[in-house]
Amino acid sequence: MTDIVSESLIADQNTSLADRLDQDFESLASQLQHRGHDIEEITKEKLRRSRLLFPVGVRAPVEHDSRVFQDWQNRVMFSRSSKTVPVINKLVRCTPGVSPHFPWDRVDDFSELKEHANQLGLVFDAVNSNTFQDQPGQAHTYKYGSLGNTSKAARDQAVAHNLECIEWGKVLGSKALTVWVGDGSNFPGQQHFIHSLERYLDSAREIYAAIPDDWQMFIEHKMFEPAFYSTIIQDWGTNVLCAMELGPKAKSLVDLGHHAPNVNIEMIVARLIQFRKLAGFHFNDSKYGDDDLDSGSINTYQQFLIFNELVDAEYRNAPDFNPAYMLDQSHNITDPIESLMNSAAEVQRSYIKALLVDRVALDGYQETNDALMAANTLKSAYNTDVSPILAMARKRSGGAIDPIATYRAADYRLQLASNRPAKGGSSSGIV
Ligand code: ZN
Ligand code: ZN
Repeated sequence: MTDIVSESLIADQNTSLADRLDQDFESLASQLQHRGHDIEEITKEKLRRSRLLFPVGVRAPVEHDSRVFQDWQNRVMFSRSSKTVPVINKLVRCTPGVSPHFPWDRVDDFSELKEHANQLGLVFDAVNSNTFQDQPGQAHTYKYGSLGNTSKAARDQAVAHNLECIEWGKVLGSKALTVWVGDGSNFPGQQHFIHSLERYLDSAREIYAAIPDDWQMFIEHKMFEPAFYSTIIQDWGTNVLCAMELGPKAKSLVDLGHHAPNVNIEMIVARLIQFRKLAGFHFNDSKYGDDDLDSGSINTYQQFLIFNELVDAEYRNAPDFNPAYMLDQSHNITDPIESLMNSAAEVQRSYIKALLVDRVALDGYQETNDALMAANTLKSAYNTDVSPILAMARKRSGGAIDPIATYRAADYRLQLASNRPAKGGSSSGIV
């Protein structure tokens, strides 16, 4: 498929849109100039900082014998890393990385996978361990937890899986391990809060000890699900306490969907930055809970306010500040390629808008307690349509002015060539 979305198709599609884009870009340039911003600097320099990783997380078929299963995993990983992700990056030019999920993305030969992916300009980072599901043939169940299980054997098994993830990640060139566990309880009294967290911490210390010096350990919290009364790392508070307990290589990962409704996530981000504990993000959007809706589909102002904190940290040169940007979404009814391209643009859109905040003015309004003008300063940046910057940055780096239209044009050609079977109703939710 990479050759179907060819350079010449992108150039063709761009030709018809280029004049209009030039005009829009010019007019935005003069608007921004009046406000003291150099559009060229934003387009050239700044966008480079908001590159995204895709968690690939390919869910396995339910029933399988292990040989067939391993073949299937090999096939999917190799085909995704040669087809899906490079196609997206070719069109949007800001998504060069993949964050694999084990054992879902396990292959027989990780060095072969790395070489294969690197040849296509793709990198791997932030490996994810999975101890929230029982895998076929595993000795001890995670029904009552993994790293915090009352059974030492189950805890050891979960630790061992994290250690193998680190080894596989080393081969792939990763620099971080993301640990999210589903441990928790469904009834008041079911678990001793303190004892279970002590068990979790003991296990986490063993994992931390195996984290290489140039790696980080990302801890991901989640308020509820699959445990519905209490979750062991339920919020950023417990998350950051554990990260502090473990040491400087441990940091807190913020998944936007993993908070109670209306929680002030931008403020959590500011706190984590202040204490040098912000690992990065799993971007998605939500209406009710952990909906994993597409980024920027519901609460775009919140996403902008989060980026406002991130740009503020850049502006102040905050120490130890290098967050990882990842998308973690479920695509239930859309083509995942289209959704991921859209979402990447939405994340970048928030970043660009946050760059437009007049920080000197905002600081002045904060010092003089001018609440209305402080809020208006943010709004004026948020209300600016920065689409021409995103499109121009894509075009200049060889991507598509309109990625969805170009992808659909390629898809149309693909169908004409009968190169692939007709679309079925089911596809994996996560690419
Ligand atoms: Zn997540
Ligand atoms: Zn989630």
